[in-house]
Amino acid sequence: MTIPKIDVPIYDITLPSTGKTIKIRPFVVKEEKLLLMAIESKDNENIIKTTKQVINNCIVSGDLDLEKMPFFDVDYLFIALRAKSIGENIETSYVCNNLVDGIKCGGVFDAVIDISNCVIEKKDDITMDINISGKISIKMKYPSYSIMKMITGNESNFQKKIRIISSCIDRITNGDKTYSSKDYSKEEMVEFIEGLTSEQYKKLESFVDNLPSFAIESNGTCPKCGFEHKIKYTDFTRFFQ
Ligand SMILES: [Zn+2]
Repeated sequence: MTIPKIDVPIYDITLPSTGKTIKIRPFVVKEEKLLLMAIESKDNENIIKTTKQVINNCIVSGDLDLEKMPFFDVDYLFIALRAKSIGENIETSYVCNNLVDGIKCGGVFDAVIDISNCVIEKKDDITMDINISGKISIKMKYPSYSIMKMITGNESNFQKKIRIISSCIDRITNGDKTYSSKDYSKEEMVEFIEGLTSEQYKKLESFVDNLPSFAIESNGTCPKCGFEHKIKYTDFTRFFQ
């Protein structure tokens, strides 16, 4: 006799960018183990690859391309999967940085993060169409998960930002001519950005500084100084604690 296969529950989840509903299943122990191993390896590429692989496994219906989706949809999906698979609450502790008589309090307090409270925060005034000068305007797009997570490591903040900006450019129009970013190499896009004036660059920079991101809010009281902390939680690797 073969061991019975256990049915896993299926959940509906609505994607923040499009409002489209897809069906997911929780990840199973084997997949959780893969994720933990990836996080322990501290190898960013491995973490991204494994996360995407597990998310793909868990999508039961819906035609999704994780490479093309905006990064915050993938974050959101992953957090939803974590909630359905391991649990909605994460217990964590923080060190209180309040100044008490000019000295950091240092008290340790516990907080429970309820990840089912995850929201994607979008700034209202963010525009996808940026006028650069006169007839030249740029149509922006949200960067992918791989790009957002890979841009870490040894690069300076300025270099990172230029790489993110270059991956956010969908097309450039100059009067009646349109240049699609996919027809140009990464180097050509970086060169284009580096050739902008500071004022023009700032318009693009403002787009990436105000990208949507996930946020989970929680509270915790420091037992030492009694301060009620409001915590904003944004670190996805800690979802496995
Ligand atoms: Zn304190």
